[in-house]
Amino acid sequence: MSKPTTTAPPKPTTVLPYLTENIREVYTFGRKLGQGQFGTTYLCRHNSTGCTFACKSIPKRKLLCKEDYDDVWREIQIMHHLSEHPHVVRIHGTYEDAASVHIVMEICEGGELFDRIVQRGQYSEREAAKLIRTIVEVVEACHSLGVMHRDLKPENFLFDTVEEDAKLKTTDFGLSVFYKPGETFGDVVGSPYYVAPEVLRKHYGPEIDVWSAGVILYILLSGVPPFWAETEQGIFRQILMGRL
Ligand code: ADP
Ligand code: MG
Repeated sequence: MSKPTTTAPPKPTTVLPYLTENIREVYTFGRKLGQGQFGTTYLCRHNSTGCTFACKSIPKRKLLCKEDYDDVWREIQIMHHLSEHPHVVRIHGTYEDAASVHIVMEICEGGELFDRIVQRGQYSEREAAKLIRTIVEVVEACHSLGVMHRDLKPENFLFDTVEEDAKLKTTDFGLSVFYKPGETFGDVVGSPYYVAPEVLRKHYGPEIDVWSAGVILYILLSGVPPFWAETEQGIFRQILMGRL
């Protein structure tokens, strides 16, 4: 008799638990708007109304195991959960085909907060206060709905228009999770400059989003990150030491 073998759960073939229309029959794709770690975002036009949207397409070949599939499904659920918030990018629909999952959302034509910081160098206290107020409001909204963002950084805040007074919108819930009060997490996720020390120590809760917001505020006011080194390991050492 052969011994039972333990194997990893089989890799799913779909992200969505339902079939969808073919996105190419509903929308016409245009230029590329941005590129992230998992997804490429394109401008797209709704064929029947002519309205423009952004579509983040995530190629399924980048999803290597069941967890990766679950993560994309969670990202979609969390976007729906928060989509009423005026400073969260609103999700409009989800599609799936053999190659990719597509998240259609409100388009933010003003680009990333990251690019505006690079262009301007730094913000006045008054301007920085206005931006950080919105960011903290979004953190509060997420936490009051039991969502930890876990990847707050200037690349994930977009402006809705190219105007100077454009509205800031939060996006990229790809690393976000639902949590219960008092629950702690141990997976090390986030982005080097913005990650909280307790994430690096693998024992954390929603306060980590407040840390990341603090790092963003520091960068808005000074134009440079508070914890800096040549290497990722060096940055993590600076964060753990906590000296500015
Ligand atoms: P990833 O999870 O791969 O980081 P993001 O959701 O952050 O993907 O999207 C990657 C980039 O695409 C963003 O940083 C931004 O430049 C662009 N982008 C994402 N969503 C939109 C949108 N709604 N409107 C305009 N550009 C967007
Ligand atoms: Mg991103």
